[in-house]
Formats: sequence, C-alpha cells, structure tokens
Amino acid sequence: MTEFELIARYFTRAPAAGGMVARGVGDDCAVLDLGDRWLAVTTDLLVEGRHFLPDAEPEALGHKALAVNLSDLAAAGAAPRCFFLALALPRADEAWLAAFSRGMLALADAHGCALAGGDTTRTAEGGALTICITAVGETPPGAALRRAGAGAGDDLWVSDEVGDAALALRAASVIPAQAGIQNGSRESLGSRLRGNDGMEEQVRQRLDRPQPRVALGLALRGLASSCIDVSDGLLGDLGHIRARSGVGAEVDWPAVPRSARLRAQPEALQLACALAGGDDYELLFTAPPERRAAVQAAGTTAGVAVTRIGRITAQPGCRVLDAQGNTIDTTALRSFDHFA
Ligand code: ADP
Ligand code: MG
Repeated sequence: MTEFELIARYFTRAPAAGGMVARGVGDDCAVLDLGDRWLAVTTDLLVEGRHFLPDAEPEALGHKALAVNLSDLAAAGAAPRCFFLALALPRADEAWLAAFSRGMLALADAHGCALAGGDTTRTAEGGALTICITAVGETPPGAALRRAGAGAGDDLWVSDEVGDAALALRAASVIPAQAGIQNGSRESLGSRLRGNDGMEEQVRQRLDRPQPRVALGLALRGLASSCIDVSDGLLGDLGHIRARSGVGAEVDWPAVPRSARLRAQPEALQLACALAGGDDYELLFTAPPERRAAVQAAGTTAGVAVTRIGRITAQPGCRVLDAQGNTIDTTALRSFDHFA
C-alpha cells in the first residue's frame, strides 16, 4: 500500500455539509470557511532518521520545519498568520534548543507568522526526535489555490529551479542507502558527481534552507488554475494535480529550470534530481495561456523566476518530451513515498 492509498482508504472523508471545512483531505491545505474570510491549515511532521539526519544543524532544522509548512500555505495562496509547534525531544539540550528556535523564529518573523501554541514531550527511550508544525494562513473567501482546476490547454509553470536539493543529498554522499532518509534512500551518487569540489556547500543551502514561495502564492491568487508545492518530486506532485484535476500533462524537459551545477551532471542524474528529487519547495502551477503576461508579472512582483515547462492535456497520463518532441522514458523515476 502506498502512502496515498493509505490516506485515501483510512483517512479521507467528505467534509460534512454545512460544516466549516470547505476543503478537506487532498490539497496542500485544508480550508476553513469563516464567512468573511477563509483559513488555510496545514500540518507537517519531521522525524529524525527519516526526514533529517541525527547530526542535522539545529538552526537549519528549525528553519526547514517551519518552511515546509509555509510552503503548503504558499501553494494555497494563503498569507501566513500563526503556527503551532509540537515537539518530542530525547533530552532538553539547551544549545540545540537555542539554535533550533532561532532558525524557526527568524523565518516566522520574516513572514509575520506568530507561534501561537504547541506541545512538548520527551520521547520514549531511544525514540526519534520528532517535530510537528501546524500552520494557519488566510485568504479572501473563495480565493485559496488548490490542486484541482487545471484545464486542458493550460500552461504548466514552475518557480525558480528544481533539483539542487536532491543533488545536495547525493553530493553529501553521507547517506547510506539503508538509512531510508526521505529522497536519500536511492543510491548515493556522490562519488560519481562531476565538479563536486565546492559544490556541496552551494547546493546544500537548497536542501537545508528552502525558501517558501509565499509571495508568489499570494500573487497567483486569481491567476493559477491549480497549484501545488514540489515536496516529493516534480512528476509525483504533478501527478497530484493531474489526479485532482482529471487531466494529463506534457513536460518539456529542456525547459525545466535547473542550476548550472545540475546541468553539469550526467543527463540521467539531472532527470532524477529535477523530476523526482523532491525537497524543492517550489510552486508547480497551471494557468490558461492568455494569462502568460500576468503570471510573469506575478513572478516579478514576488521576486522569483517563473518558467513555463509544459502544458495540460485532456488525454490522461504524463509525458516528458525532449528537444525533438520525443518521449523520454521516465518509468524509473519515482517520487518519494513513505510506504511504497
Ligand atoms: P503535503 O505533501 O502537501 O504535505 P501530502 O501529499 O503529504 O501533502 O498529503 C496529501 C493530503 O492528505 C493532504 O491533504 C493531507 O492533509 C492529507 N493527509 C495526510 N495524512 C493524513 C492523515 N493521516 N489523515 C488525514 N489526512 C491526511
Ligand atoms: Mg504540499
């Protein structure tokens, strides 16, 4: 059973009619309808040994724990308002706590997102450090972006660049295959990377300090027909847009924005990192072609590049095309799934 089959089978119910849950399971955020405004709510869990290594730098970890939640708010086009922090700690390590809270609260302050509560407990003996954050954002009524809504003929867009976080994991070369770290469970390619000298630190920032695209999410309200944040890999997350929207997609591989560092790698590694790497926290979204200029303007407003990387098709499925329009075989590329 995959992670998403599990959720669908045991934890997916239709929102009660007339209740405040306007949108439930299936989007990056749930939506609570308060009448004069909508609240977008999301929760994400980070587990030591699963999402991060035991020696992860605590300030970066604090940043990332909140960033992945703000990224889900961004995907819903919601303005961050507050968050809740639940922690299970093996011990009260003051140096660790000082750095962790510093990293987390600096990002919170940058987005005007208040820490409004939480829970703190000690893990069972030998238990993994676990961080759970629930974040709350706000949109005008009806304005939240969602995964459903992509229509045939829409352009497919992505923000900034994808693939560097996955490249960092491989470059670090510290993750044993059996560790089962998210995205690191595939074979480590560190020793085979081209131009590895000094690259690690540059790409490492993409992995450790993702920048949630909050301003872009806000600018895309009323423009994007669907939106998701790329957390598990571009093709997998595109699959969620396809499934929720009942459409197919074509991705133009040459157009997929990648760093010069990633472009210097072998093609197969570029494909794996950019299309199935995960941990990018970029926004993947669709919009009708007549909104191209407006989408570009939204990117400019938000200070982040947006690139057209393909189109939505009526025919289901997903094809990745090379420069000649031939289909690239991507069957070996799988997105991260905790239970697959
Ligand atoms: P994201 O990657 O944006 O955090 P996921 O793809 O992990 O979201 O989750 C897909 C959907 O399933 C989301 O709407 C999420 O809220 C929901 N979901 C995940 N786990 C559970 C659960 N245990 N119970 C109810 N809903 C869940
Ligand atoms: Mg998400």
